[in-house]
Amino acid sequence: MHFWIEAAERDWAIQTPTGECCVRLGDGVEARLTPPYGQLAAEDVRVLPVAKGAGSPEWVLVAGQQVRLHLNGEPLQLGLRVLRHKDEIRIGGQRCYFSTEELAKVIAFEGLAQPVFCPRCKEKIEPGDLCVRCPNCGAYHHQSERFPCWTYAPTCAVCGQQSTELDAGYSWTPEML
Ligand SMILES: [Zn+2]
Ligand SMILES: [Zn+2]
Repeated sequence: MHFWIEAAERDWAIQTPTGECCVRLGDGVEARLTPPYGQLAAEDVRVLPVAKGAGSPEWVLVAGQQVRLHLNGEPLQLGLRVLRHKDEIRIGGQRCYFSTEELAKVIAFEGLAQPVFCPRCKEKIEPGDLCVRCPNCGAYHHQSERFPCWTYAPTCAVCGQQSTELDAGYSWTPEML
């Protein structure tokens, strides 16, 4: 997931938070990306990951009573809501968008509790093997010179929806609105 922050008119900056951190939403407003603990102060904005089984988490936007925040043009009901891809968040004069889109990238496989088999070549993926985890469905595929399994076909071998282009960039940006 990431945020598109409007730095100036029609000028968008991407913020991709990892772990526990602050996302600067502009105008001195920071959304804190934290596990759901601690008290919410009246001027706090938080984005909380909520695990939903094995897939990527859902993200819940929480705002304190004094934050003037609009989500897709509406005041935030009850001070919280699950964020959806392309949601517009407005705080004061500042605009930003939430996106769940992730880019496919080559990583060294860290290993999982269960053995993982590449859906393309059916061979086991060993810890340390270069691979790509499909950002859409989470399936691991080899991606090395010997086993270019991810880029072997135009789309992911499991979901068939994710493009396997490695430098394609984001398919959705606020400029498309
Ligand atoms: Zn493979
Ligand atoms: Zn996939």
